[in-house]
Amino acid sequence: ASVKETFSFQTEVGQLLDIVAGSLYSNREVFLRELVSNASDACDKLRYAALTNPALAQAADALAITLAIDTKSKTLSVSDNGIGMSHADLLETLGTIAKSGTGAFIEALKAEKKDTVGLIGQFGVGFYSTFMVADRVDVLTRKAGEEKSWLWSSDGKGEFSIEPAERDANGTIVTLHLKKDAKEFAEDARVRHIIKTYSEHISFPVKLGEETLNAASAIWTRPAKDISAEQYTEFYRHTSHAFDEPWHVMHNRVEGTVNHTSLLFIPSTPPFDLFDGERKSHVKLYVNRVFISETTKDLIPAYLRFLRGIVDSQDLSLNVSREMLQTDPTLAKIKTSITKKVLSELKKKATKAPEEYAVFWANFGAVLKEGLVEDAGLRDRILEVCRFASTQGSDVISLSDYVGRMKDGQEAIYYIAGENAAKVAQSPHLEGFKAKGVEVLLLSDHVDEFWLQHVTEFNGKPLKSITRGAADLDGISSADDKTDKDENAADLDALIMVFKAELGDAVKDVRPSKRLTGSPVCLIADEGDMDVNLERLLKRHGQ
Ligand code: ADP
Ligand code: MG
Repeated sequence: ASVKETFSFQTEVGQLLDIVAGSLYSNREVFLRELVSNASDACDKLRYAALTNPALAQAADALAITLAIDTKSKTLSVSDNGIGMSHADLLETLGTIAKSGTGAFIEALKAEKKDTVGLIGQFGVGFYSTFMVADRVDVLTRKAGEEKSWLWSSDGKGEFSIEPAERDANGTIVTLHLKKDAKEFAEDARVRHIIKTYSEHISFPVKLGEETLNAASAIWTRPAKDISAEQYTEFYRHTSHAFDEPWHVMHNRVEGTVNHTSLLFIPSTPPFDLFDGERKSHVKLYVNRVFISETTKDLIPAYLRFLRGIVDSQDLSLNVSREMLQTDPTLAKIKTSITKKVLSELKKKATKAPEEYAVFWANFGAVLKEGLVEDAGLRDRILEVCRFASTQGSDVISLSDYVGRMKDGQEAIYYIAGENAAKVAQSPHLEGFKAKGVEVLLLSDHVDEFWLQHVTEFNGKPLKSITRGAADLDGISSADDKTDKDENAADLDALIMVFKAELGDAVKDVRPSKRLTGSPVCLIADEGDMDVNLERLLKRHGQ
């Protein structure tokens, strides 16, 4: 292409831009965080590319991010000497939105006029947030290793253009032509203040004119005592496109068989893609401060995919390609070490701050329980930090709590599993247990049926579904135990005969039951048969 071309934004981007440009914001300065964040990513990418392409080594040497203000023309620009973008990159990344959950996100935005910025930040609209403050955005860029430069330009109203341009080196400059009501972002003091807040943790120098505004060292390399809670939060928001406060921060340096530093966060609100099919991890891997990769399952197990942050190790080879990570034994060791550390931190939280832990559990418990199926080696440790709703009280409890308050004569840990928490809590199967004061765990996450196939006992007590087999409550006494059962035995036998004759092959058996007090009948599965709910789940998945 040698002339100016015009393109339409992908439909979703168009919708997004309408919302972004049309709403009122209290916190729209986040656009600057997004631009600096993209510039920093671009520098990371160039450093990574230079590992395998010596021709780029020199360019990767003095990476920096520079801001410039033009008070007269009311423009603000953010430039970097990072990887840059080709014509194809521009088309692909600045015209579409590839994030999963975009449709759902746009619906949420439409519904929630008030906290649009919170949602935008959480979702990471990134570059498109510039249209909150600019009525035109120009992106002049050249990809490292390529000859041609390009100018991308848009007023955010449905179309953008790309034309050939001149730039003397690789990298990108994004120029915002500020809206009338956004002139404050062309004021030196205002910009300086925002940059101070948002870029202290960025590993590259962030400059305003000639002056460097940040420490420009990777935050995780500094001692924890020198890092404030605000700095941790900013770093969390930067690396994970988050807008919330981290629920928990874990900053650890491990020296031993495999040296590594990790700075990990557990969010306080669940990310959008938590339950999408790919179950991706979002922790970034660095080798000696060089960014290597995000979304690798070889670093963080899928059942900890709510974690955000970074892991850096100098013991991995800098030549390790993203493809080779899968089989790297050093990485496998780091993964195990991190997994154990996170589980032990969770255990501490669960013990010391059960109320806070309940919040974590509500957000991520269903994810963590996947580990009971997938990670046989750490199953016991995972089970320790699992919590469950029960028929006694509204707090979630551990299996140890349950066992500690079992009734005299109670042999098993009882549970009921179903698809819906409210339905489960009202099941007639619970009646006999409630009457005897026997606690029953209420399980309503999808994953419950699956881990229950693997965890069949705890502390020597079997886990039993109350919708399966005989509910052996005989050994447990209760105040209102009925003594008239023998007198009615003959009548009951006669009634059962009638039921059996009437139902025929539709049921395997008809039995008198002690599990009911209010309801006349309930369906149960045989001891050796599949649980009623599991059967329903498998049927739905066509098995
Ligand atoms: P995200 O950063 O989450 O990918 P953004 O909307 O912030 O989303 O950016 C979209 C994409 O545009 C980036 O992934 C990157 O490929 C490209 N991009 C944006 N800014 C730059 C830049 N300064 N240099 C190179 N690529 C960039
Ligand atoms: Mg971004």
